[in-house]
Amino acid sequence: MIVMKFGGTSVESSDAIARLVGTVNAHLAERPVVVVSALGKTTNRLLEFAEHARRGELYMGSKCLTELQDYHFEVASQVANDEALHSLETSLQRSFRDLRVILSEVVDEGRKVTPALLDEIASFGERMSSQIVAAALESAGIPSVHLDARELILTDDRHTHASPLYWECYANLRRVIPYLSDGVVAVLGGFIGSTKDGVTTTLGRGGSDLTASIVGAGISADEIQIWTDVDGMLTCDPRVFQGGYRLRSLSYQEAAALAGSGARVLHPDTVTPAIRQRIPLVIRNSRRPEMEGTRIVPAVPPCSNPVKAIACKPDLTVLEIRPKDERDPAELAAALGEMCARYGMPAEFLCQNERTIFLALKSSTRYRDLPIELGGCVEVRLHTRSAVLTLVGEGIDGTAEVVARSMAALKQIPVTILSSTRSRLAVSLIVPATEMQRSVEMLHREFFKQIDPVVFAECLGVENAQPSSTFTEPGASAVATSRRFRPLTTVSQN
Ligand code: ADP
Ligand code: ASP
Ligand code: MG
Repeated sequence: MIVMKFGGTSVESSDAIARLVGTVNAHLAERPVVVVSALGKTTNRLLEFAEHARRGELYMGSKCLTELQDYHFEVASQVANDEALHSLETSLQRSFRDLRVILSEVVDEGRKVTPALLDEIASFGERMSSQIVAAALESAGIPSVHLDARELILTDDRHTHASPLYWECYANLRRVIPYLSDGVVAVLGGFIGSTKDGVTTTLGRGGSDLTASIVGAGISADEIQIWTDVDGMLTCDPRVFQGGYRLRSLSYQEAAALAGSGARVLHPDTVTPAIRQRIPLVIRNSRRPEMEGTRIVPAVPPCSNPVKAIACKPDLTVLEIRPKDERDPAELAAALGEMCARYGMPAEFLCQNERTIFLALKSSTRYRDLPIELGGCVEVRLHTRSAVLTLVGEGIDGTAEVVARSMAALKQIPVTILSSTRSRLAVSLIVPATEMQRSVEMLHREFFKQIDPVVFAECLGVENAQPSSTFTEPGASAVATSRRFRPLTTVSQN
């Protein structure tokens, strides 16, 4: 069996869903299980809806719901045949009725918009998209069954960024999916789960990748495919710098380091469930299924380039922390990480370099609320309006060469090097946020002047790339068209 996960842009319209149906059809012999994200930018819209409700903006909240309802009904009517459409519409209607009840409870009756309610609201995106996709497959003559992911994916109760209870998830998945009749495609929403008490949770933004990987591990899949809007893992985010290369393959460790450092084509935890059973993860472009994508596997061929890719996190405040007393910096780093999570401001980056700890938080967080100074026991230096760039590759191997070349390449830019003593395959740097794009370009030029053809491939271009000045959260708008993108007329699938 294989898992095929389709992200927001890969289900954003009836055309996108028609492509999904074609791609799933081409893989039927491998017995696919399909995991889907919410349609297009639905999660963002649902969270905007929640914000309108919180502010008591009944009209705006209701307008948001009307727009979402029209969008979902339109897509549903275009992908489902008459037989499937009736029950699909009844179910979508029920969802929007429930959302309107929530709106009135919040605005008129003072119900609090808690993290648990945010999860409840956000979950409607994947609940509806999975029903639409199941109906689309069925209407195209592919027998399918819709599964409610909340009954299978159990999590803790850290609402909005819950952690899966892996073994319970695997047991649930194993009990259900392998016993579906042959030829029936199971479809479930990503991102959503529930606590053991049945309260809806979500796995954090971009969490459908993690769902796919949990499903893959649960059913011991032969492969987990992440179908998205880029040709694979590229040498850097095409929204920051176009002109990168596609990686043919990456090791689990390299992929995890990139995902954790801002390469959001994968949710940071996606690799974890796949590792134990050595299940390959493959990133592929849903618009160009003929492309082979990037394979993430246990071992990769040697590469003459030490750096495989550059990941970046924009808009950060980095705290440089030094203990004033003899306390163990490693213990202090762990305690700081836990404290940030407890205060609902998870660290974007945390590393310890000898006696210095670097802790990066999103600029938008209220980091001043954190009791970081620990009663005067530590010295703190702030790097505001910063970006963290991370160079990743097994060839880095803890050597000083990559640091020296990075410093030389970025000589006009104020840089702080954060090499983590724990990671042999990554080097991170702080640069001013305003210099992020220029720095990535300069580093790219330095490390990819010549490329190893065994590892890297030309990239045809990215149809949705846009500059970093409009860098968006997952699911947000992405419309600009690259000059280099040439649509292909023939589509063969493997
Ligand atoms: P999906 O909706 O399919 O889950 P995402 O928007 O979450 O898609 O992830 C795909 C996006 O990841 C790409 O459009 C790209 O901007 C971004 N990205 C960041 N870093 C990289 C990278 N190194 N290679 C490819 N894509 C990247
Ligand atoms: N729909 C969710 C989000 O936008 C999960 C996902 O797309 O992976 O974050
Ligand atoms: Mg994603």
